[in-house]
Amino acid sequence: MATLRFYALKELLGRQPLYIDEPGKLVSDYFGKLVFDKPKMQKYLSKEAYNHLMDAIEKGTRIDRKMADSIALGMKSWALDNGATHYTHWFHPLTDATAEKHDAFVNTTSGGGVIESFSGSLLAQQEPDASSFPSGGIRNTFEARGYTAWDVSSPAFIVGTTLCIPTIFISYTGEALDYKTPLLKALAALDKAAVDVCHYFDKNVSKVACTLGWEQEYFLIDEALYLARPDLVLTQRTLMGHQASKDQQLEDHYFSSIPERVIAFMEDFEREAYLLGIPLKTRHNEVAPNQFEVAPIFEEANLANDHNQLVMDIMKRIARKHRFAILFHEKPFKGINGSGKHNNWSMLTDTGTNLLSPGKNPRTNMQFLTFLLNVMKAVYEHQDLLLASVLSASNMHRLGANEAPPSIISIFLGYELSKVLDELEESVPDKKMTPDQKTSIKLNIGKIPEILLDNTDRNRTSPFAFTGNRFEYRAVGSSANCASAMIVLNTIVANQLKAFKKEVDALIEKGIKKDEAILQTLKRYIKETKNIRFDGNGYSAEWVEEAARRGLYNIKSVPEAVHAYMKEKAVKAFTANDVLSEKELEARVEVELEKFTKKIQIEARVLGDLSINHIIPTAVSYMNKLIENVQGLKDVFGEGEDFKELVGDRLELIRKISSHIHSIKEKTTAMVNERKVANKEEDAHKKAELYNTKVRPYLDDIRYHIDKLELIVDNEMWPLPKYRELLFAR
Ligand code: ADP
Ligand code: MG
Repeated sequence: MATLRFYALKELLGRQPLYIDEPGKLVSDYFGKLVFDKPKMQKYLSKEAYNHLMDAIEKGTRIDRKMADSIALGMKSWALDNGATHYTHWFHPLTDATAEKHDAFVNTTSGGGVIESFSGSLLAQQEPDASSFPSGGIRNTFEARGYTAWDVSSPAFIVGTTLCIPTIFISYTGEALDYKTPLLKALAALDKAAVDVCHYFDKNVSKVACTLGWEQEYFLIDEALYLARPDLVLTQRTLMGHQASKDQQLEDHYFSSIPERVIAFMEDFEREAYLLGIPLKTRHNEVAPNQFEVAPIFEEANLANDHNQLVMDIMKRIARKHRFAILFHEKPFKGINGSGKHNNWSMLTDTGTNLLSPGKNPRTNMQFLTFLLNVMKAVYEHQDLLLASVLSASNMHRLGANEAPPSIISIFLGYELSKVLDELEESVPDKKMTPDQKTSIKLNIGKIPEILLDNTDRNRTSPFAFTGNRFEYRAVGSSANCASAMIVLNTIVANQLKAFKKEVDALIEKGIKKDEAILQTLKRYIKETKNIRFDGNGYSAEWVEEAARRGLYNIKSVPEAVHAYMKEKAVKAFTANDVLSEKELEARVEVELEKFTKKIQIEARVLGDLSINHIIPTAVSYMNKLIENVQGLKDVFGEGEDFKELVGDRLELIRKISSHIHSIKEKTTAMVNERKVANKEEDAHKKAELYNTKVRPYLDDIRYHIDKLELIVDNEMWPLPKYRELLFAR
């Protein structure tokens, strides 16, 4: 008998929900308790240090040495008061996870004892060894040392007994080795460019922040079953497994009542998240069995992203406590929905205006249309970059499968808003406007909020959908760091807003009135972006054809996608806005390619191992049982006609099993050989391409035969938990 699988199933029978102690009070009473936020800063810092820090947070001024020491002292006191014994710089290297190295506060004294100490220099900067993190070749050329430096815009927090200080991570020579550095730069670029454009409409705006509200999907699998699946443990997805007879076809999981064990888990991690000041708002069952979603209230993008990374980390930890394994992989199971991480994105002024929300009068609506169309133009011009920012070895399985948008970027506006744009295009003349024309355009623009108010139009198949007051970028993968997509989106929009400002200013120079200059430019954008507007079914095969006719990109693989980063117009956008240098871009491309290659390599190895050491031996054992049976019947009935009729089906089965075994062996050997060829390739790009085109197809090929065997082989002997078990145990 396949011991581990049945042991795991037995474990399941005894599972109980693990209820946590109720905090016994309102969330508002303990929300943010473990965050060094403004009220705590006020309490623990001198007035001078507090003001100094506020300037750094709000205006980006430098923190001097003396003040840093004073701030560190206050932060330490707060941390010790809340049970911390260690501190760490917490950063986002270019891997799938965050990084931390804990140091104790203790320091020896001359008297032979120890005291708790922490200094401004330890708070502000540390030097982790960069050579153990992906750097895309940057570290080879220079020293291995890297720096982490405090990001004052995201508050420190305590996890367990460790004070975590959010930091950026850069190389010895100053290149970004993380997600946060370019994200902060892209946000700064957007801020500047958007403020400049806002001044056409409102001189009071002095800051524009990008807002991000992520929706995180995930699967929960019972821990015992998970541990009995080496493919899940090592690759986070099932490399084999025949579809269960029932999965999501009855549509009975989405929004249905949440299973007890899962609710207990959710309450537990939500409580931790609230202590860390993460404003979680929504939880529900998703479409696939054992698939769920969590979403917070949106925040400024840098903080929102830190919170997303932190939540993922907390969820992994808390899941174990509840004897679950959590899967953030984009497609852990073939044939059912995968997981995404929708990025709801907008821009917010310091005067409180959401720039993607229609306003109350013609002026604010002009502002809304300006930002809307600039976003559309940026997305149109840089579709390939947006795709590159979300494609990964794992998300490749999800995009274009039947539950996610294809690898084509299109924008959904909805019927009403589309009509507004079309009418605007019609009504703005190419020559100077008459007063009548002006009045009528203004009147129409003034009507936008009413039009959108009635507009409940929603399209869940669009990768980039306007949802009334924000865009929802839905192609982002569930395991991704949101920053990857946010760096690109904010950079291209900043770049576009700058171009817009230049164009409008040039028209104003020529003597055209400001409003007219803006309208003329917008009219051109409406024309130029028409091809990317699509309100139909983004999951349909027709759309793929239609998009090709429209000349839209359809980029399906990582090696193909990363080219976008090195195209002249992309390099220009990144460098002109001081987000990433050409060298940093090259490094990032290298990192993406390496990650891709390694992931496919790992999957190929795991599948090879499982095929040879688990599946084939099982199939052979079952075949031997059949052979024994046939032999026994022959002993009883002799070799006559009777016998042939009796064993016909079993002989057929033996042949089938034998043939699948043969195919698996043959293909596994061929896959290993392709890997050997690919591994000799020095060029990262060519290597990734080989892994994509030569190695990757074998994963499906081999799986096909294994899944067929699963249908034939005695259930008692099958070693790996089946889909029905993985997906319905809860
Ligand atoms: P749905 O599933 O219908 O898309 P959810 O309520 O699950 O909606 O998620 C919507 C997300 O969008 C939430 O995180 C919400 O806070 C966020 N959001 C709302 N307004 C904005 C905005 N102006 N900017 C960014 N995110 C926003
Ligand atoms: Mg959504």
